[in-house]
Parts: sequence; C-alpha cells; structure tokens
Amino acid sequence: MSDVSVIGLGEMGSALARAFLAAGKSVTVWNRSPAKAEALAQKGALRAGDPAAAAAASPALVICVSDYAATNSILAAAGVAEKLKGRLVVQLTSGLPKEARALAAWTKTQGADYLDGAIGSWPRQIGTPDAAILVAGDDGLFASAEPLLKLLAGGLTFVGSDISHAKILFNAGLSYFAGHWIGFAQGAAICEAEGLDIAAFGDMMAGMAPGLAEDMRHMGNVIAQGRYDNPESSVKTVGADIARLVELSADLKIGGTFPAVAAGLFQRAVDAGYGGEEHGAVVKVLRSA
Ligand code: NAP
Repeated sequence: MSDVSVIGLGEMGSALARAFLAAGKSVTVWNRSPAKAEALAQKGALRAGDPAAAAAASPALVICVSDYAATNSILAAAGVAEKLKGRLVVQLTSGLPKEARALAAWTKTQGADYLDGAIGSWPRQIGTPDAAILVAGDDGLFASAEPLLKLLAGGLTFVGSDISHAKILFNAGLSYFAGHWIGFAQGAAICEAEGLDIAAFGDMMAGMAPGLAEDMRHMGNVIAQGRYDNPESSVKTVGADIARLVELSADLKIGGTFPAVAAGLFQRAVDAGYGGEEHGAVVKVLRSA
C-alpha cells in the first residue's frame, strides 16, 4: 500500500500530490482525465486505474476536485464505497457547510473516518510554511492525521469537531476576498482610466496591508461585541466616500456596478438610522435577506 491517495489532479490536487511526494511519502493518484497523472508519475507517484483502485491503495484518501457533486460522483463509482471501510477520507474540495455535513454522514455509513478541510492558499504555496488549510472533524482523528496533513501546509489549523466549520470559515473568508478582488480591480480600472501605473497602485495597497489587518481585527471585535458607538469612522462618512466612487466611475466612463452596490448597502444602513455608528454597523443591513 502507499501512504496516501490523491483523487483529483487539477491545479490544486496536483500541488497536494507533489507536496506529499516531496516529503518522501508514497502517493497513489487518480484523475478523471488520465493525462494529468503523467507528470506526477514521472516524480514517482503510482497511478490508479480507477477511483476504487485509488481508494484501495492507501489508508488515507485526499480528495480535491471542483466541487462536492464531482466528489460524490467519484465516490459513487463502481467499487469505491466497499473500499472505504477503515480508511480516512480527507475532503479538501471547496463547497458548502451542508455538503460537508452530508458527506460526513455518508462516509460514516461506509465505516470510514472523515475530515473536512478548506484550502486558503494558491497551489504554489502548498507544501510551504505559507500555505493555510482549515480542518474540521473529530479531534482525535485530526491528531492522528496531523503529521500527514502538515506536509501540505505550515498553516494547518484545526477548527473544531463540528464538521461544517472549515467550510463555514472558508466561505466567510471568501466573502471578504470577493470584495477584495472586485474592489482592487475597480481601483485598477480607475488608475488605468487616469493613466496611472497599476503596478504602483498594487505596491501602494500592499503597503497598507498591516493597517487592513488591524481593521479586520477591529471590525471582528466591534461586531462581536455589538459596540458601534463613538465611531472613528462612521457609516455616514464611509457611505458618502463610497457614493463618490459611483460619480467618479461615471466621470471616467468605467463600470460603476460595484461602487453602486457598495454605496447602496451603506445608504440602506444610513436610512435605517445607523449613520452615526461605527462603519462595521453595515452588518446590520446584511443580516437579513
Ligand atoms: P481545476 O484545476 O479546475 O481541477 C478540477 C479537478 O476536478 C480536475 O481534477 C477535474 O478532473 C476534477 N473534476 C471536475 N469534475 C469532475 C467530475 N465530475 N468527476 C471527476 N473529476 C472531476 O481546479 P483546482 O484549482 O484544482 O481546484 C480544486 C479545488 O481546490 C476546488 O474546490 C477549488 O475551490 C479548491 N481551491 C483551489 C485553489 C486554487 O488556487 N486553484 C485555491 C483554494 C482552493 P479533469 O482533470 O478530468 O477535468
């Protein structure tokens, strides 16, 4: 038997398999499109002919495919379920908390152990101290799997025994990054329209990263404690600044969809009477649909 089987050899799955190989583990790999296994085979990976063979080959099975639907179809393939008894299944595919709960329940009926994880890094970071992976599941099970999973990410974090918590935190973080990516791209479009160097804009924003980290901690504490009084920066002030982005986008003849959505949310908070509160109070209009 090999030490670990990796199912799914896209950008991320291949990076996971490479990290295990680099750490000296024997690795069995399977991918729906077999060609993606070739580069890993050249590095010493064993190729399984089908998902059942991959499941049979190792005590631990790491899955990283597009989504849970793909995972479920792989696990439903002929002969796989019978091979899972006594195996550890580690799901590192992104998805929803309810999907993590459902897969945990299904693997339990097959007699398998299950950990649910979420990757918060780029493939190039996997296997380095910079990589971040959140893992949820039974704490004893995590402790026994930790030496193996630590090979993938220096920042391996156990988030507790509720199997859905890795996916909840992943999606909460993704919500932040959705704003980050679109917001940065809007800023780049503004710089471009005005003839400014976009790379220099990226450098300027990177220089603000420590302050942004501080704001995240601050917002976390403010919202957790519900303390929106004595604002340094109020909903009204931030909302007015963002509303000007709508006008600037129109002046520059660039898209204004993102500023309009952001300004609209802050305006809703002002209309609801939260204008004089700390900017984190915008959460109050996000809580209900
Ligand atoms: P990818 O390069 O597009 O690879 C997708 C993988 O899923 C391929 O191995 C593909 O097989 C497989 N797949 C899709 N549908 C399938 C099906 N029905 N049956 C069997 N296999 C199927 O994606 P990726 O970047 O590796 O991402 C994989 C997971 O990692 C995703 O959940 C993603 O959110 C997560 N992730 C990725 C990153 C990143 O930067 N890439 C970062 C964090 C998390 P084929 O090769 O046969 O198409």
